[in-house]
Order: sequence, then structure tokens, then C-alpha cells
Amino acid sequence: MARDYDLTPRPVAPVATKYRRIQTQLPVPETIPVLEALRKYEPIAMGGQPPIVWDRAENFQVFDAYGNAWIDWSSGVLITNAGHGRKEIVDAIVAQAQHGLLTNYCFPSEIRAQLVQRLSELMPEPLKKVFLLTVGSETVECAIKLSRTFGAKIGGKSKHVIVSFEKAFHGRTLGSQQAGGIPVLKEWIVNVDPGFVQVPFPDGFRTADTSFEFFLNSLKMKGVTPERVAGVILETYQGGSASFAPVQYMKQMREWCDRHKIILTCDEVQAGFGRTGTMWGFEHYGIVPDLTTWGKGISSSLPLAAVIGRPDVMDLHPAGSMTSTHTGNPICCAAALASIDLVMKERLWENAAKMGDLLHARLHALKPRYPMIGCVDGKGLVAGVAIVKPGTLDPDADLTWDIVWESIKRGVLMFSPVGFGGGTVKICPPLTITEEALVESLDAFEEAFEAAVAGRKGMA
Ligand code: PMP
Repeated sequence: MARDYDLTPRPVAPVATKYRRIQTQLPVPETIPVLEALRKYEPIAMGGQPPIVWDRAENFQVFDAYGNAWIDWSSGVLITNAGHGRKEIVDAIVAQAQHGLLTNYCFPSEIRAQLVQRLSELMPEPLKKVFLLTVGSETVECAIKLSRTFGAKIGGKSKHVIVSFEKAFHGRTLGSQQAGGIPVLKEWIVNVDPGFVQVPFPDGFRTADTSFEFFLNSLKMKGVTPERVAGVILETYQGGSASFAPVQYMKQMREWCDRHKIILTCDEVQAGFGRTGTMWGFEHYGIVPDLTTWGKGISSSLPLAAVIGRPDVMDLHPAGSMTSTHTGNPICCAAALASIDLVMKERLWENAAKMGDLLHARLHALKPRYPMIGCVDGKGLVAGVAIVKPGTLDPDADLTWDIVWESIKRGVLMFSPVGFGGGTVKICPPLTITEEALVESLDAFEEAFEAAVAGRKGMA
């Protein structure tokens, strides 16, 4: 599954359209020293993304320094919901920097007050207290801590189990990785905490049974009773496949958590701020979780993350005991406020829903033509195309890899495959993408798909 790109420049067919420009070779020969320096000075584990060297990015396009341009289907990694490099965000960052406050730890600042108030006012009840952090993994660690603290308070130390889902991704720190459901990522952990338990995610594709009874039975089979559960945490949609749980399942989950005083956390790090066609991902389920974790699209740019939750849970720890060096960094707060303003003013969740309809219709139309498409999933401007060996559920990582690279050669930028067995093509453009650019990129993607399939056939 883990692999990296060959850095030998190879000829590509030139592309020159309104939004895409690809010249004669990829990787671009002039970028090889940069790519080699990264390989030399960074750990191998930082590799693996397509070898194009980002120079600048604007709205839904990414440019290198050599005249190539891509329509971006990555949003970085689902960061730039309001578009890359929006002037309003740049201006807010510059203004805050020039104002003369670049950092202030947990000392009070006006801009931090503005941001927590803004977020709290936007959220539905009871999500009213906001703890700012820097990255998504940190927010997940905090949600685990708060869930266990709450569990211990009401049910004693035995109420400590954190239930999460197979194939889930919640970050790369020790706790968030244990809440994750990807076994290979946990191989380095010699003393896995038995208080983290994963059950199948009801995606309706690799887990056929999407009933809530199956959730209850899965827990029972693992010997976990509800009295021992402190928290359930799930990605609002699974990042590796873009799949959502059924609405009924989540309504039953909400009731079950209420009945057993279990903290329900939706990890909205990927789903929030309009991505799925609603402002918050959990709106699709018609429920409100107790805790939510946010990052990525919150600022469309600088590192900022947040835990937002029920006041009684958020207030479990005393003054001075939930801190982080860069919490509410003033420049990051300025960026987040500007990005949230753009999402709200331009009603970007509506564009995500509208463009999403187009995107999903086109992807679903591909499915009958290609038996290697196992499943198309997602909502709004996030889609996952699961590539399988025809007639099976086995991921075809090689073909998925080729589809991504063929797309990049045609000026459509994606990150490398994600998901189970590296078999998902993930599509997540900035929420500002226009119909014209989306159609143009979908046409190019279809060509790339056909070329990748033909290439694999040629190899067989
Ligand atoms: N939760 C989810 C759902 C994520 O997708 C990610 C990152 N891909 C994280 C948590 C971790 O966020 P970060 O990389 O900012 O630590």
C-alpha cells in the first residue's frame, strides 16, 4: 500500500484549457532538485504525494512555478473550503500580523473571544463551549479525555471504554491512532489500550448489515456492556470512503448514548464548514452530538482546530488544565474568522450541495461502464470512488494509483489514494468551484479513468 512516485521526468500530452495547463513533462525537470531535497531531508513517511511542486494556489486552482496549472480536487487535504488564497483571508492574516500580536498562549485576547463567540453562536444547542487547538489529532485526544472524565465521574473508572469504528481515521497521535480503525497504523503500539474498541462502520458496501442491532451485537461479541462505555466517536463520514452511516442508525445511536449516559462525539475535522452540502456534517443525521471536533476547513488556511461541546462536559476540568501553546493563535483566529465569514456570506454549503449533485451524478453514471468501480459514496463536495478487482470487494490499489496519476497528467489534482487497501479515489474540490470548472475537470477525469483502465489491461 505504501509507495512513492518515480522522479524520472516523463513526456505527457500537453493540455491547455481555461483552467488547466500541463506542458511537456511530469515531474517537471526543473523541480527535481526540490523533490530530491525533500526525499533527502525528510523521513520517507512524508513522501507519497504526487511529485508536483506547489508554488501558489488560487481559489480552485494550483500552480507550479513552471507554467503548469491544475484544477484542484484536493483542497490541500480538505482544508480550503472557502478556496485557496482568498483575498479576504490573506487581508485578515496581514492585518493581524501588522497589528502586532502574533502569539499570546492562553493569555486573553480580543480576537480569540471573537472567534469562540462566533463559533458558539453558529452551533446548535447544546454545542456552546469552544476550546481552540491547533490540529485535528489534538481535538480527538481532547474528546477522548473529556469522554473518559465524564464516564469516570458518573460511572466510576470502569466506565472508560471508547467505542469507535473499523477503517476510521482520527489522527496520528497515540490516542487518536488507537481510536482509529486501521490496524496497520497501530502496529507500532506495543501496549494497545484494551479500552479502545472498534466495531464495523455501517457503510452498506464492505459492511452489508447497516442495522443498529448489528452495532449492539458487535459490542456484545467484544464483551462490552453499555455501562462500561464512556464515549462513542465517529467521523461524520468516513474519510477513507466518504461513506455516511444511515440516518436511522445515527438516531438510534443518539438514543442509546442518551440512555446509557455515553458521550457521542462526531469528528467533523473533514466534514465541517459546508463540505457535505450542509454547514455541519451531522445535520444529515438530524441529531446533535455531545462533542464535536473541527479542523481543516475551519480556516481554509492556517492551522487551527477546535473542540465544541456541551458546557457540562467541556467544563469538567479546572482552570488551567486544558491548555495548548498555540491555542487561539491570533493570526490563525483572524484567518478562521475571515474564512467563516466567506462560507456564510457566499453560502458555500449551497454551492457544495449543487455542485455535489453534478459530481455524484457523473460518478454514478460511470459505475455501470466500469466493473472496477465498487462503490461511489459521499455527499456535497466530497466523493469516494472505491476501485475493486471486478466481481469482488478487494481493493485494486494499483489501478487506483494509476487513475490518480492519469488525472494529474491531465491537470486535475488529487492527493494519493486513500481508504481501505489504498483503493479509494477521493474527490474534494474547494467549495467555490464553478460548474464550468467542475464539468471540465470531470471530463478530464473520465479520460484519465479510461486511460488508467486501458493501461492496466495493456499490462495484463
Ligand atoms: N480526524 C479526521 C476525520 C481527519 O480526517 C483527520 C486528518 N485527516 C484528523 C482527525 C487529524 O487531523 P490532523 O492531521 O490535523 O491532526
